Amino acid sequence: MKLKNLLLLGALAAGAAYLYKQYKHPTVACSVGVIGGRKAKPQRELMFATGNLHKAAEMERMLAPIGCRVLPVELDVEETGKSFAENALLKARAVYALTGCPVIADDSGLCIDALNGQPGIYSARYGGEGATSHDKNLKVLREMAGVEDRAARFVCAIAYLDQDGDEHLFVGECRGEIGFEERGGKGFGYDPIFMLGERSIAELEAAEKDAVSHRGAAVRKLMAYLKEH
Ligand code: IMP
Repeated sequence: MKLKNLLLLGALAAGAAYLYKQYKHPTVACSVGVIGGRKAKPQRELMFATGNLHKAAEMERMLAPIGCRVLPVELDVEETGKSFAENALLKARAVYALTGCPVIADDSGLCIDALNGQPGIYSARYGGEGATSHDKNLKVLREMAGVEDRAARFVCAIAYLDQDGDEHLFVGECRGEIGFEERGGKGFGYDPIFMLGERSIAELEAAEKDAVSHRGAAVRKLMAYLKEH
């Protein structure tokens, strides 16, 4: 096991012990706090297997309205799956194996019709080690130079492992087109080259992105499930 993972295991064990001590529940920390004299909503806490703080922020703001807090956990997991769903499950299982806590993991990416679905599950690694989002966007724009069919979709698979380790999958998609240049400064990753009509996703406000994005679509399915369970 890598040193980084060992350190993380220690931190997670301490966290789990703290949660158990506080809430007498080994997995989900449910608390009723008092803020300014008023009772706050009960909170469900979910580990989120990601090192991507942009994704974590999106997940946190979407799940907050149903009283769910997201705790990002970065683990070195080899993404050997052949689909977004398989990779999401690999990441969620790795965190569940270490913590025994309910966990979500998201695997997502950009699939371009004219490039036979590429970069797809390789979206994060497109352009090689050390390539920035800007580098990856320029690479896609180069590959799409002179291509008429610009149809593309973002896909997001969320794996949720509940306190018993039972696995649940929620998939969302967002269809659009690859633009001709980077546009906008919001969002992250391929957002500046992904056009929804006249605007790129990077030109949308956070709430606008959540309403139309692949992650938003998958999270709404997850939320519907969590509300019932
Ligand atoms: P992974 O799911 O961590 O393997 O990486 C997904 C990669 O797909 C990210 O690093 C981004 O490059 C891209 N991606 C996923 N979701 C989005 C999004 O909402 N906007 C832009 N790019 C995204």
